[in-house]
Amino acid sequence: MKISSSEFLVSNTDVKKCPNNTFPEYAFIGRSNVGKSSLINALCNKKSLAKISSMPGKTQLINHFLINKNWHLVDLPGYGYTKTSKTKRSTFQKLIISYFEKRKQLVSAFVLIDIRHKPQSIDLDFMYWLGNKKIPFSIVFTKSDKLKTEKISLNTKLYFEIMSEQWKFIPKHFITSSIKKSGLSEMLNYIDKINTA
Ligand code: GDP
Repeated sequence: MKISSSEFLVSNTDVKKCPNNTFPEYAFIGRSNVGKSSLINALCNKKSLAKISSMPGKTQLINHFLINKNWHLVDLPGYGYTKTSKTKRSTFQKLIISYFEKRKQLVSAFVLIDIRHKPQSIDLDFMYWLGNKKIPFSIVFTKSDKLKTEKISLNTKLYFEIMSEQWKFIPKHFITSSIKKSGLSEMLNYIDKINTA
């Protein structure tokens, strides 16, 4: 699939106000700075489509884009840690939780992970949370241009080793670079296959 049209539709703070139609929906999520805006722009072949969602004040919103007039790409807020006085607590904001719990149009999520880092508990926790909720997702490793092939294999293997301790099935994954535009057609073909099934 090629993306021939992509347009920003709407930003919401409330999942109930998200577009009320039946277009299949794919949600992009990850920690801030993981390369989410760059990936969305690269997929859509537009320089600043996702810029709107990383503008100050827009980062805590559910941002809907209409793609090829027949599916939604959703840019979700980044998740992270807050440091409380005694503990480090993971925060999957209420907005993220209610989106995944309530959004019926969601077909699958793409969880973005910076391939340069060792497995981080915040990402693992989030994927376990999705798994427990039976929400389909794939992993999208980003910034692969920053590592050599051997290191890419090593880092992805580490993730799957840790995940296989708890899970029978390892999710589908994509190895991408927004700079080299690699892994993008695989993602789009995957979406297309589901949409046309
Ligand atoms: P977001 O906060 O998740 O939306 O992340 P951005 O898309 O704004 O990217 C964060 C930083 O990572 C920026 O400095 C980007 O230029 C850089 N970046 C994003 N994607 C890639 C990539 O594929 N390769 C490299 N080398 N850098 C990237």
